[in-house]
Amino acid sequence: MNDFDLVILGAGSGGYAAALRGAQLGLSVALIEKEKVGGTCLHKGCIPTKALLHAGEIADNTKHAAEFGVKAQFISMDMLAVNAYKDGVISKLHKGLQGLVKSRNINFVEDTENSLVRIKLKSTELSTPVRTSSWLLGLIQKPFLVLRSTANRS
Ligand SMILES: Cc1cc2nc3c(=O)[nH]c(=O)nc-3n(C[C@H](O)[C@H](O)[C@H](O)COP(=O)(O)OP(=O)(O)OC[C@H]3O[C@@H](n4cnc5c(N)ncnc54)[C@H](O)[C@@H]3O)c2cc1C
Repeated sequence: MNDFDLVILGAGSGGYAAALRGAQLGLSVALIEKEKVGGTCLHKGCIPTKALLHAGEIADNTKHAAEFGVKAQFISMDMLAVNAYKDGVISKLHKGLQGLVKSRNINFVEDTENSLVRIKLKSTELSTPVRTSSWLLGLIQKPFLVLRSTANRS
């Protein structure tokens, strides 16, 4: 059985920020994630949308380039290349985040099958092989909820 001061379920913006802060405070931290560290913002939300918007902005600027005395011609969007650019941005940031989490000695646990933790939110029932003094939920874009303390340290 693993024993941690703090276990965080969900490694999105909220989860990894809490993990970094916990580690900074000297806690032993486990960060459990079923997909990838970075969560919605990095992989599906803020970052991909901003990358796509940036490509669109460049296309739009090209169309209006003459207004600024710039000779340029818009031909078409190459969506394969646009998506490759977007994926490259995500990948770079993802690698950076993985390195940051590792460098702070946070135990990142991939749990694709939800095998480590079973939580019923309504009854706050927990069933887990991970023992910890504090649980944080970083799952669903809601403020964190400290579920309950299971500390039994001597
Ligand atoms: C299209 C889009 C664009 C956005 N643009 C912006 C923006 O420009 N600026 C901004 O501030 N916000 C933006 N947001 C909102 C931003 O993405 C969220 O506010 C942010 O991701 C919330 O972080 P979170 O950690 O609470 O949740 P999430 O990032 O959703 O993280 C939750 C994590 O928990 C994991 N998880 C869920 N269930 C389990 C389980 N059972 N076991 C293990 N792991 C689990 C998920 O895989 C996920 O990684 C955007 C969102 C979307 C959808």
